[in-house]
Amino acid sequence: MHPEPTPVSGAGAPRLECRRCGAGFPLGPRFEGCPECRDDSGAAPLEVRYDYDWHRDHGTLAEWRSRPPALWSYRELLPLPGAVEPVSLVEGGTPLVRLDVEGPGTLWAKDETRNPTGAFKDRFHAVSVSMARHLGFAKVTSSTTGNHGTSLAAYAARAGLRCLVFADPGAPEVQRDLIALFGAGLVVMRSRRDQLAWLVRERGWYPSTGLVPWPVATPYGIEGYKTIGHEIYFQLGARMPARVVCPTSGGDVLYGPWRGFLELRSLGADGPLPAMHAAQADGCDPIVRAYRAGAREVPVHPAPDTIALSIGDETAASYTMDAIYDSGGAATSASDERLIEGMRLLARHGIAAEPSSAASVAAAVEMARRGEIADGEDVVCVITGAAVKWPSAVALAAARGPLPQDEPDAVRAWLEAFDRAG
Ligand SMILES: *Cc1c(COP(=O)(O)O)cnc(C)c1O
Ligand SMILES: [Zn+2]
Repeated sequence: MHPEPTPVSGAGAPRLECRRCGAGFPLGPRFEGCPECRDDSGAAPLEVRYDYDWHRDHGTLAEWRSRPPALWSYRELLPLPGAVEPVSLVEGGTPLVRLDVEGPGTLWAKDETRNPTGAFKDRFHAVSVSMARHLGFAKVTSSTTGNHGTSLAAYAARAGLRCLVFADPGAPEVQRDLIALFGAGLVVMRSRRDQLAWLVRERGWYPSTGLVPWPVATPYGIEGYKTIGHEIYFQLGARMPARVVCPTSGGDVLYGPWRGFLELRSLGADGPLPAMHAAQADGCDPIVRAYRAGAREVPVHPAPDTIALSIGDETAASYTMDAIYDSGGAATSASDERLIEGMRLLARHGIAAEPSSAASVAAAVEMARRGEIADGEDVVCVITGAAVKWPSAVALAAARGPLPQDEPDAVRAWLEAFDRAG
């Protein structure tokens, strides 16, 4: 029932490897991390490793350069075997937009709102659900504050798989409705892990959750996030940016692209790797606290309180801290007011992003103010998700004034004033 993926012709087979002890396993339905390293502190994640030497020797990087930026353009380093049709809604290939902001360096927005369900999560589920179907699963599940679940429901629908989403009570009504519209089952509850793990362990469901086994997860979804790194590199003209700023919650959003940059280097790309920066909200900033303390383990943030629910996880994975330290990055948070200002800054460029996504812009502006960005640096803000799925935040940021009465004289008077005000 579970076929073993075959490698790209000529290359050695990709395998799962433990980040902690290096133990290797064939690709397959492994959702509990490394069996050797499982202890009281939880499981160590497994991640996919490829035959980088073969790809360096066979010009995979040059081949990629000739392809348009898009998730499946980089499938030599994705876990789905080359001959297997992916589950796709045409994800990735998102624009890299130069932002008109004064100051040192050049600020860019990697506009992930342009993905099929309006969030970078589509890269995750494109790969994860493709693997679920390839491995013979008929049922997929996940846990979400909104975007992750809406995305999974869409990909499950396209794949013809059953789907069950566990959603946080803060998930907006419109996302609950979208999940239902895509035909998925929905359970709204605060503490979701045990129920999800039960479905996976006892009922044969595939967990399309993040990389950390908490207690179950998939090693395959985060592979899709690597392609954010790949695309940025090629969109800058085969050049590494100086810094990448990611609105970070559990941390896959930062660790995934970081692995993408590392892999580019394994394939022969040169230039210093970018510094990876985590952007959080003041009301939920466990990564910032860990960073200030120089810690690898992220403390649990008591009672998160921010409008940026998508980056509201009370803790994060230690490998995210590794990526921040190894890359020479940092962590910065912003108040909800500054997130709203970030939304307005993006809106002036025609991009409607949710408050969580604006955290990257708020952090970059703050870094520039503190003198942490040098002349000539390319700073890329990942704009993770679209505003439309968070209507109450759109209303806050829009701060719309009263409209004229629907009456000709009132409209004419209003138009006169509006015209003069321009
Ligand atoms: C999920 C999400 C994030 C954070 O991603 P993690 O991988 O959990 O750190 C950031 N922004 C948006 C819009 C998201 O949906
Ligand atoms: Zn191990």
